Order: sequence, then C-alpha cells, then structure tokens
Amino acid sequence: MMAGELILIVEDNEKNLKLARDVLQFRGYRTLEARTAADGVALAQAHQPDLVLMDIQLLDSDGVTALGRLRGDAATAAIPVVALTAFAMKDDRARFLAAGFDGYLAKPIDVRQFAEQVQLFCERAPRVERPMPPRPQE
Ligand code: MN
Repeated sequence: MMAGELILIVEDNEKNLKLARDVLQFRGYRTLEARTAADGVALAQAHQPDLVLMDIQLLDSDGVTALGRLRGDAATAAIPVVALTAFAMKDDRARFLAAGFDGYLAKPIDVRQFAEQVQLFCERAPRVERPMPPRPQE
C-alpha cells in the first residue's frame, strides 16, 4: 500500500533516524529529517507534514519543549505529533500523553509494525484545513 503522506522524523541518533526513514520510504511515505529540535520546528513550519515523529532526548532541546513550540504556532498547532522514545516506562508514556503528544512509539522501532503504526496515527489525525505551502522543487 502506497501511502504518500509526508512524515517529519526528528531524531538525533543517526541509526534510528535512518531505520525509521528507510522503513517509511519503502512503504511509500515521503520523509523529512531533522536532527535537532530547532530544525524540526523549522521544517514543520516550512513543509506542514502530515505527522511528526518526535524523539524526546535531543541535543539542543527536548521533544516536549519542541512539541510546545509546534503547538504554540498557529501554522503547526494542528499537526499530530507522536513521541518516539526509548523511555518505555509506563509513567513516561502517561507523561508524554499528558504533555500533549498524540501518541507514543517505543524505540527500538518494530520494523514489521512501524509503517502500520504510523498509518494509524495519520488516519486518526483530525483533518483540518491548513494553508498549502509552496511545493519545493524536487
Ligand atoms: Mn535522542
């Protein structure tokens, strides 16, 4: 099934980033990649992805703070953001949902389920009208 949604992956671990990107691209998603919270917020503002996968521990900030920046900007407030984190503890899961994330995926990702999990988050996301940004030349 070719999906085609645009997924922004914010992840500072190169191996984790590459794995998530490769799995999603293989399944027909388009991807954007950021290795810092600042780059992630900027890419989200510029490209209006359908979904953001947000690592929690980032070099320049943390995923909860970056989520707050996305929610605080009208241009990105409605984009669903899923926490992507090695913190698999039950309390952390509740904390991330309480912080306003739309969902939670534990690392390491399950390569057999990851694309389906992402698709579910895309489908669950409320469809809101967002201004279409100009398409970058590819
Ligand atoms: Mn990290």
